[in-house]
Amino acid sequence: MPGNCLFCRILRGEIPSTKVYEDEDYYAFRDIHPAAPIHVLVIPKEHIAQISDADAGHRLLLGGLLLAANKVAAQEGLTADGFRLVINNGVHGGQTVYHVHLHVLGNRPMSWPPG
Ligand code: AMP
Ligand code: ZN
Repeated sequence: MPGNCLFCRILRGEIPSTKVYEDEDYYAFRDIHPAAPIHVLVIPKEHIAQISDADAGHRLLLGGLLLAANKVAAQEGLTADGFRLVINNGVHGGQTVYHVHLHVLGNRPMSWPPG
């Protein structure tokens, strides 16, 4: 279903993005403010505002999101050294765009815990 959030507009090509990967259900593009040498956002084409809105009906879609991130990581050469996957949810999670997205971060060591 068409949405009007920033990432739905990116999906429709109304706002430019640098595509990294795309298939029937997912789109991946470079984060405009990279937090690591490789920083890609993977989004489902279906608009879900935040991960806490997902339910059992989204099981396949969310599983596929992780597999799409795996493909992106492999394509970006991150598999051997490892990488970080992040989903921010809501205000305390630091979410700023309300269309579910998985951050794929890599090409440097990551610290833990996050800030
Ligand atoms: P979050 O804080 O988890 O909601 O992540 C939103 C991410 O979207 C941030 O890392 C932003 O840098 C990124 N972002 C915002 N606008 C754009 C854009 N037009 N193109 C690419 N990435 C964007
Ligand atoms: Zn959206």
